[in-house]
Amino acid sequence: MVRFKAIIKEGDSFEVEGDLNISKEFFENVIKKKVCDEIEIDGEKYWVLKKDDYYIIDKFECLKELRENAIYDALTKCYNKKQILEFLNKFLNSYLRYKNPYFSVAMFDIDHFKKINDTYGHLAGDFILRELAEVVREQMRKSDICGRFGGEEFLIILPETKVVGAMKFANRLKEAVENHEFIFNKVKIPVTISIGITGVSFNDSIESLLSRVDEALYEAKRKGRNRVEYR
Ligand code: GH3
Ligand code: MG
Ligand code: MG
Repeated sequence: MVRFKAIIKEGDSFEVEGDLNISKEFFENVIKKKVCDEIEIDGEKYWVLKKDDYYIIDKFECLKELRENAIYDALTKCYNKKQILEFLNKFLNSYLRYKNPYFSVAMFDIDHFKKINDTYGHLAGDFILRELAEVVREQMRKSDICGRFGGEEFLIILPETKVVGAMKFANRLKEAVENHEFIFNKVKIPVTISIGITGVSFNDSIESLLSRVDEALYEAKRKGRNRVEYR
């Protein structure tokens, strides 16, 4: 077992840390020699996996896993918060600079999820989160990007999509969730979500964009849940 701390440079670099299930010899003789430079930050040693060597990561199952853990949420396999924010940042910067591509964002949150956990148990709650992510993937376009933003809150970036299109998507998703049969231990659990949407604007920052979509979501909750609102 080798404890591994690395910085992977892939567009924006990110840090990964974990235990690799490989021998010290394999690490010293193969991975270290082929993959990376060693650097020290605040007394800690890191291995820098360079972009040009990126294919190396795919060659080694253990590195691939490490990379995936750094990007994806383990439960839902959606992007994690850090990663979805990075995507959002890129889309926003591109839009502010080139006015292109236009994009909308949708933020959704499971209705009364605390009650679901209390009634059916935490495992049922986890099951719903996993299955819900599948429903979302079925409804999204390939170019849409979904990340788990908090416990039971998700953010979706909809590139090349005006608010009218985002509205259609959100209503379709809302209905798909409502009509999906979430069956855990032979018990059918009713699940609904509330969705807020907004479109990017030329004077947006990450904060203003997120606060607007959050307000829209809050409005959907306030107006009775299982609905879509936009700002
Ligand atoms: P609302 O309709 O206003 O959104 O009500 P809510 O009950 O969904 O909202 P609240 O924020 O009060 O509760 C969220 C719950 O989500 C509480 C927390 O225990 C649960 N939760 C967060 N992350 C997870 C998780 O990973 N697994 C499970 N099973 N539950 C989670
Ligand atoms: Mg909720
Ligand atoms: Mg919530």
